[in-house]
Amino acid sequence: MDFKIRLSPPHMSGNELKYVQKALETNWVAPAGKNIDEFEKDIEAYLGGQLHVTALSSGTAAIHLALVLAGVKPGDEVICQSLTFAASAFPILYQGANPIFIDSEQETWNMCPILLEDAIKDRIESGKKPKAIILVHIFGMPGKIDDIVAVSKKYNIPIVEDAAEALGSRYKGQKCGTFGDYGVVSFNGNKIITTSGGGALTTKSEIEKDKAIFLSTQAKDKASWYQHSQLGYNYRMSNISAGIGRGQMEVLDLYVNKRRENHQFYTQLFQPYDFIHVFSEPSIEFHSNHWLSCIQFSDNKSNKTALGLYEALRKNKMESKPVWKPLHLQPVFEDRPFYGSKISETIFEKGLCLPSGSNLSETEKETIAQVVLKYLDSCHSERNVV
Ligand SMILES: *Cc1c(COP(=O)(O)O)cnc(C)c1O
Repeated sequence: MDFKIRLSPPHMSGNELKYVQKALETNWVAPAGKNIDEFEKDIEAYLGGQLHVTALSSGTAAIHLALVLAGVKPGDEVICQSLTFAASAFPILYQGANPIFIDSEQETWNMCPILLEDAIKDRIESGKKPKAIILVHIFGMPGKIDDIVAVSKKYNIPIVEDAAEALGSRYKGQKCGTFGDYGVVSFNGNKIITTSGGGALTTKSEIEKDKAIFLSTQAKDKASWYQHSQLGYNYRMSNISAGIGRGQMEVLDLYVNKRRENHQFYTQLFQPYDFIHVFSEPSIEFHSNHWLSCIQFSDNKSNKTALGLYEALRKNKMESKPVWKPLHLQPVFEDRPFYGSKISETIFEKGLCLPSGSNLSETEKETIAQVVLKYLDSCHSERNVV
């Protein structure tokens, strides 16, 4: 499908070329160089706090390295929220470990802290304490961080904070990606900023950062020849990609504002329809970058559904997407333990992500509004059924 309006397309600032050009001119085109160093510093300054950032080839690679650094071994159990992109949990399988999935709570759509504690108690009782907790801030919405951190501390299980979708989001004023023992952001093409493909890992110490760089560059021991005493990975970001990232960091806050404006637009658009809930912050403690604006339908007389709106938009070359299908329902994770009920499943069945790019124009918003209203106001079909 050739969409005229895409869900979340890349949005260049215009300054990327300057940094990429410099890399090419100086022949620093490999996974080393000034752009990487400066990009890492930019992210550290942006996130604030005592953090060390390692630029990597993807967010998925960052989650994998976080699990390696947390000491996750084959046969270990790792807890992950079910309502998320598969990349949150794939690295658990890369490690030969076993995922344990947790349902969401309805307010933030993220991991339910109560079910998290239930699951931990149950796993400990059955003889195995989970090795890590993967917490996600879905669509940019911060999860119930205080409650989850409290559980993590109580049982002394480290948190890998998957903030791939939440760069620029805040919880109680603090940036997402800084709460976990390890933090992950993504610069994939559909994320709030992009390096064409890339990610970063945040760690609390310089020692862990050095370890992350060592592991991401094939774990070469200090020797004149190629000597390896540990399993390594080729996960480092290239200096070209990091150049794109430096240009993108200059506009990150602007893009957060643009995405938040999109959310405002949808809030107003759907306001008259009481069977549509626009996914929004539960209180002022939560500040979402609104990476994607989402809605959830409830049952209604006129039989309007998420899938119906999806079709109406698609026919008009506008891209929307169902909410992530929960991982406990995915064939690749079949028969994995799941703690919860139907919250994430219902959000999946009744939810829809709407066009949310930071480059969405006013004219495009108007055409989206026309299509949405036409679909919803053909509501009165039941009257025609005699
Ligand atoms: C995009 C994404 C990832 C993976 O990031 P990549 O850079 O695409 O590898 C992981 N988790 C979530 C929640 C994501 O949305």
